[in-house]
Amino acid sequence: MSSSAACIFCKIIKGDIPSFKVFESDKVFAFLDIQPLSRGHALVIPKFHGAKLTDIPDEDLLEVLPVAKKIAKASGAEDFNILQNNGRIAHQVVDHVHFHMIPKPNEQEGLGISWPAK
Ligand code: C5P
Repeated sequence: MSSSAACIFCKIIKGDIPSFKVFESDKVFAFLDIQPLSRGHALVIPKFHGAKLTDIPDEDLLEVLPVAKKIAKASGAEDFNILQNNGRIAHQVVDHVHFHMIPKPNEQEGLGISWPAK
């Protein structure tokens, strides 16, 4: 398992920095974004440390999207965006691969969030 002592998301995975965890498995961790773009905005990350998508082994990446799907279901949102930035020009700020799962609540019904994701 690759990990970086300086990486804020590696510290979150280890529990050295607190987070609102919504899912964890051997290879994947998910938590709520501290500056959410919508209610339930979560970050799904491989535990393997790598800055860009191209740095992550396929076996780790393969486990990420099914977790994003679980998070989407748990958010209760019918509509949502999944976003993944790579590099400064693409607006990546944290250099540990992360997928933003951003629910788009129905204005009438809102969200039926039920964490943790299952
Ligand atoms: O894709 P990008 O690198 O721009 O996004 C990083 C995200 O990580 C931001 O949405 C920011 O709010 C989030 N973040 C967080 N907890 C931290 C540091 C950053 O949720 N401790």
